[in-house]
Amino acid sequence: MKTKIFIKRWISLMGICSMIVLISACTAGKKKPEEYTRTDFVMDTVLSEKLYAQKDLTGEIKDRLSELEKKKLSWRVKDSEVSKVNQSASVGTTYEMNPDFSTWASCSLNLAKKSEGAFDPTIGELTRLWNIEGDHPKVPPEKKIAVALEKIGYENIKIKNNEIRIKDGATLDLGAVGKGIGCDVVRDYLKTQKSVQGAVISVGGSILVYGEKEGGQDWKVAVRAPDGEMDSSMGVLHLSGTACISTSGDYEKYFVENGKKYHHILDPATGYPAESNLHSVTVVCAKGEETDGLLSDGLSTACFVLGKEKGMQLLEDYGADGVFIDKEKQVYVTPGLKEQFEILSKEYHFTK
Ligand code: ADP
Ligand code: MG
Repeated sequence: MKTKIFIKRWISLMGICSMIVLISACTAGKKKPEEYTRTDFVMDTVLSEKLYAQKDLTGEIKDRLSELEKKKLSWRVKDSEVSKVNQSASVGTTYEMNPDFSTWASCSLNLAKKSEGAFDPTIGELTRLWNIEGDHPKVPPEKKIAVALEKIGYENIKIKNNEIRIKDGATLDLGAVGKGIGCDVVRDYLKTQKSVQGAVISVGGSILVYGEKEGGQDWKVAVRAPDGEMDSSMGVLHLSGTACISTSGDYEKYFVENGKKYHHILDPATGYPAESNLHSVTVVCAKGEETDGLLSDGLSTACFVLGKEKGMQLLEDYGADGVFIDKEKQVYVTPGLKEQFEILSKEYHFTK
């Protein structure tokens, strides 16, 4: 008899204990996240992080981006994967890529094809000739531009499964999508971290908004006024959930020679800075795919070169959205962003 009572009591005690465990587990899950911020310099650009999490992982994120640069994307590092690809190309052999690099190379090559070469991952020779980020850039001689153009061309890249082969002196350069790839790498890392509720990570002109903001509010991403002062914005994007956003603009990096402005987005068809009457293009990719960051970065460059009509078409082909700002301060927005983009400056106007 006594044993029965004891067992009953024991069971109810266990019940109470497990209730307490359950309640505390629930409250632990709901514990308000801290806000952690960090600014750093990585991948040749400014990294700015804001994390809503139970612990500070901003340093981990920075480390992952440094690693991406050194081990994978930098052509300055001799044994990075991109350098290995180009060393194989220079001796005419095929290179077997690691799966992540293979995904990035294939996705970039597809974008080159779909944009009819407006985005070209073999453009390195030409960007090095212009050297717009150098100390004293000047317009290169026409002849040198012609020689560089001979060497570039995405048609020289062949990819089959994980194997890449590059011919005719071309080189692969994923620098133009590096910051977007950085956003993809960070997102994949954050997905493995249960303690992170939300984050805004910007790697140069590419931004990742991740998860949920405290209180379930929208993420607000400012779009810079191309003619304005540094940091003045002309509008704002309201986004929810996880998305990658990239901007390409003619105000980012440029020099002036004989009164003419030469910016860093080059038209592979001419060898000169693209002239499409656009000031900037901002692209949003929120398809939940592993290459959303790469694509937002590459698409913004491609759309800048292609101009508004063809750029809009390309975004539709990819199921991406964007905001185009032209030199007359007219703003074109794809249908998917109509409700989510707001103009803040009186100088800019929506148009169809
Ligand atoms: P960021 O320099 O911030 O990455 P963008 O995303 O707009 O700026 O990419 C421009 C960079 O990409 C240039 O600095 C240059 O290295 C490279 N680039 C320029 N024109 C092209 C192009 N048509 N296709 C591919 N890459 C390009
Ligand atoms: Mg870009």
